[in-house]
Amino acid sequence: MAHLGSGAQAPVLSRLALRSEPDFSTLRGVLTLEKFSFGVGDRFGHQAGAQLAAFQKLAAQGVRVVPVWNKSNREHTFIGSEPRSVREAATAAVEAAGWRHPWHVDADHIRLETVERFLPCSDFFTIDVADSIAKPPAPDAVQGFLSRHPELVGTVKIVGIDTPFQTTAGEVSRVASKYLLAVQDAGRIFRHIAASKGGPGGFIAEVSMDETDLPQTPPELLVILAALADEGVRVQTIAPKFTGRFNKGVDYVGDLVQFEKEFNDDLAVIAHAVGRYGLPAGLKLSVHSGSDKFSLYPVIRRALGRTGAGLHVKTAGTTWLEELIGLAEAGGEGLRLAQELYATALEHVEELCGPYASVIDIDRAKLPPAAEVARWTGRQYADALRHIPSLPAFNPHFRQLLHVSFKLAAKAGSRYTDLLKANAGVVGRNVTENLYDRHLRPLFLGP
Ligand SMILES: [Zn+2]
Repeated sequence: MAHLGSGAQAPVLSRLALRSEPDFSTLRGVLTLEKFSFGVGDRFGHQAGAQLAAFQKLAAQGVRVVPVWNKSNREHTFIGSEPRSVREAATAAVEAAGWRHPWHVDADHIRLETVERFLPCSDFFTIDVADSIAKPPAPDAVQGFLSRHPELVGTVKIVGIDTPFQTTAGEVSRVASKYLLAVQDAGRIFRHIAASKGGPGGFIAEVSMDETDLPQTPPELLVILAALADEGVRVQTIAPKFTGRFNKGVDYVGDLVQFEKEFNDDLAVIAHAVGRYGLPAGLKLSVHSGSDKFSLYPVIRRALGRTGAGLHVKTAGTTWLEELIGLAEAGGEGLRLAQELYATALEHVEELCGPYASVIDIDRAKLPPAAEVARWTGRQYADALRHIPSLPAFNPHFRQLLHVSFKLAAKAGSRYTDLLKANAGVVGRNVTENLYDRHLRPLFLGP
């Protein structure tokens, strides 16, 4: 195990990360997610190597964070790719780089109807049950839950939360009614996956509830975890919807003080539920739409340092923006395509933004005209798009529109991917730098 330098340069997290961990992944045939993991997306399948380079840079600093390549069914459908392409790209990158630590392939946001083609090539499954939230379960299911869990009613003391939860049977029953069907759904999907992955220990299960309107409060999370344990779901990471807005590709918008309290309370609830309900010991929070949430990273880092908890962060769509930045910087044909894609995006702004209305905030008046962008240098394009909020040239409206415009690049087909290949150096440099400098480093090494 690498040795850390002087105390001043040894942040709490790296010491935690370095506390010698056995390689759980093969222990007793149970596949266990490592303490720190980070999900990356690669829409067009050309950047796995550049992404892995960021994890290697971090490992060289003494912090091991495990890469998870994730792609949802929805995304495969938009791009026209197959799940096995994700594993193939990751395998090639891992072999080329000589990465000797674990890595995973996440079937992101799958459901019973969509999981099938992911089964042979994923070892991590994000079971999305958001659609079943607030749909009523059988009435006796709620009654059964209440009688199994008298400990959830009254004063619930949780280590790490100053004021105990005060609940009534009516409230617990209301929360159970809201989430039990979703949990039963998770159970059905979990058992279906287990049947083809060598049992419940043969894969990593995440349960996600983030794609819904209202956040789940920490007391609700406790009920959800108790129910998941009842259902036999060996959940290793859970993605609640947190308070505030997690817009695509830009910073968090919300109350940081409230987020910090909620995040800390969630960590305490998870630790409590692991002990009380026998859930997997490494169970941890997963932060979805986690890219570019720069103002949250210090908050999250503080919480992990204080509690020793693990973390999964999921990012997906921003590597494609780094590709655009790289093509713009490359100039010539690369810049021309980047400018054309923006012009087309502007013409189709309505249909491109529609499906993402709840996770983007674009002020149309602040989108530069296509004719102006057509005159930009590669540097100007890159500065407007690259997420450095302190740069006056940065334009979050331009960035968010391009974020949701990846389908246009998919449509450009080989013209786009050939340019990625021809400019692999400058594109890859941007991909690695974004991941390492703006994400992994602030989260796991600190400022
Ligand atoms: Zn999600």
